[in-house]
Amino acid sequence: MKALKDNVRFAKVSRLTTNSSEKPKRLSAVRASNSRNALEETIDLYGVRNWGGEYFDVNPNGEVVLAFEATRGTPVSLKSIVDELRKRGISTPVVLRFPQLLDYQIKKLAGAFKSAIQEFDYQREYTPVYPIKVNQKKEIVQEILDFGERYNLGIEVGSKAELTVAMALSKNPESPIICNGVKDDAYLRLALLSRHMGRRVFVVLESLFELRLLLDLSKKLKVRPMIGLRLKLSARGSGKWEKSSGDLSKFGFTTTDLLKCIEILSGEGLSDCLALLHFHIGSQVTDIKRVKYAVKEAARTYAKLRKMCPSLDYLDVGGGLGLDYDGSKTASESSVNYSVQEYANDIVYSIKEVCENEDVREPIIITENGRMVAGPHAVLLFNVVNELSLSNGQIRVSNIETKPQVIQEMHDLYTRINGKNYREYYHDVVDQRDEMFSLFNLGYLSLEDRGLGQELFWGVCERAIKYAKMAKHMPEEFEDLERRLSRKFICNFSVFQSIPDSWAIDQLFPIVPIHRLDEAPDRTGYLADLTCDSDGKVDNFIDLRDVKESLELHALNGEPYYLGVFFTGAYQDVMGDYHNLFGQVHDAFVVVDGKGNCLITKIIPGHKIEGVLKVFGYERDELLSEFRGRVGEGVSREGLKPEWGSHLMREYEAALGSYTYLTLE
Ligand SMILES: *Cc1c(COP(=O)(O)O)cnc(C)c1O
Repeated sequence: MKALKDNVRFAKVSRLTTNSSEKPKRLSAVRASNSRNALEETIDLYGVRNWGGEYFDVNPNGEVVLAFEATRGTPVSLKSIVDELRKRGISTPVVLRFPQLLDYQIKKLAGAFKSAIQEFDYQREYTPVYPIKVNQKKEIVQEILDFGERYNLGIEVGSKAELTVAMALSKNPESPIICNGVKDDAYLRLALLSRHMGRRVFVVLESLFELRLLLDLSKKLKVRPMIGLRLKLSARGSGKWEKSSGDLSKFGFTTTDLLKCIEILSGEGLSDCLALLHFHIGSQVTDIKRVKYAVKEAARTYAKLRKMCPSLDYLDVGGGLGLDYDGSKTASESSVNYSVQEYANDIVYSIKEVCENEDVREPIIITENGRMVAGPHAVLLFNVVNELSLSNGQIRVSNIETKPQVIQEMHDLYTRINGKNYREYYHDVVDQRDEMFSLFNLGYLSLEDRGLGQELFWGVCERAIKYAKMAKHMPEEFEDLERRLSRKFICNFSVFQSIPDSWAIDQLFPIVPIHRLDEAPDRTGYLADLTCDSDGKVDNFIDLRDVKESLELHALNGEPYYLGVFFTGAYQDVMGDYHNLFGQVHDAFVVVDGKGNCLITKIIPGHKIEGVLKVFGYERDELLSEFRGRVGEGVSREGLKPEWGSHLMREYEAALGSYTYLTLE
């Protein structure tokens, strides 16, 4: 039913400006005659102020602007950044990265824990840890470590490869390195030997097998390890990752095995090596209740274990702090029903309460928040290439009386459909279309007649939907029909490379045109990417109360039309793949300085075709010489003129050196 309400609202926005076949007028022209500002209506339609909140806003020209702390007073528009990049030869698709947003998020997180600690008079400190799997790009990890230094921010790794990055980049000896994941001897040796240089490397174990491996190596290497144990809690997360926690979770010790661990450790005289308890209830936890339950259970376990092993001093509550992708502030999958401050308060307070009750010293608190820290800093931008639709607006037919009966009847339905008869006329046109196909198959209709019949059919459907939307309740058959009539916007990007979670787990991201928001969008449709894969599309969009199946967009007007996908900084970079050989997109780092100047500080060009081909074993020079061979054969066998041969060689070479996406000429 929600869709209905929105459609009504959308229809209202359209009516302000245009009959859908006309070019929409600038809203500023009609603003004076409308009590409600039309720009505001478009902003509402896309929910920019709901999800954009403290990060993004819209300026009076209808362009999305940066609105985070460092940019106050200088609302830089994303469109102006894209224009500047184009001048430098960098065209869409491109990912804009705002390192200041990484800083901002870290500050917000650490600030929230600082005030919770003060408010509840918590006796120990808090240390944020960045789980590197969320985004391993060097520039991003470096920025997070540099800015996080003041909070002794640490790194969490889940593999040997990630550990090698952490060991080299993390300079601060106070910062913890937390080693998760399944480990072999080599992984453990790296972790253990760094203890010799005084690093706080915690080896978090998940099985008794790993414990034995660790104890053997510690003896050999003469290291006293800092051991962490991962708990399998009975409390569950909420949202998409709910199954990754609870009794059946893939990770962690049961209570029985936990006690066996302690027994083994004290048998070896190493019970004072137990330093940390860890749990992680999954990502994007949508409901704060779940965090509270889990923390209480873990804090209780901590308190009881601490009485047996007084060296136990850290409680690591993992990640899970979510982002409000749809701006609804609810426990829906794309949102969270709590603030960062509430998250911090609940963790600090719950731990304090349990420790008081059990009369043990409070632990140092660690969180591993990746999505929250890295998510907002990146925006994917791409241009819409083309728009495809089954119906083409007004249908004009000359000499209708000369057409076959069935076509005349469809035309009659098309011209006479109205708000009272639309259901009946829609059913009639479905019958007429079937009749038309039968006649065609029997050879009684020309191709032209069939074409006209199809056009009229979709024309009737489109009008029927229009009337259905005006009705109090939109009949279900028309909702379905609308989906089928939905326009397709071909967009210059690959879902699989740039927003893999949209495809893999149906994650929603806010998607919005970054300009022209002062014009009411006058059409709706879904997005199709460049890949030849029917899954290469986006047909679910954020909405305050529901999920929308189509997005409101503007007609193409000859100028590039850019859409932004927001909050793509977490998980998307590393999960992306090379479907159809579309490679990594350009990265542009943007900073706003103290004087309000917007600076593009770094551009990392995306893959050239030769770069992607190399990933799959094709060397540029080899390809060139092979192709030169093909051209030579063309000249000698097929009569290819040598000058066309050289032209072809130049074109081929240029292609190898070009971007894998469509280029805006
Ligand atoms: C993935 C992961 C995280 C990050 O979770 P977010 O929800 O992105 O904050 C933290 N800890 C562990 C152990 C993880 O596997």
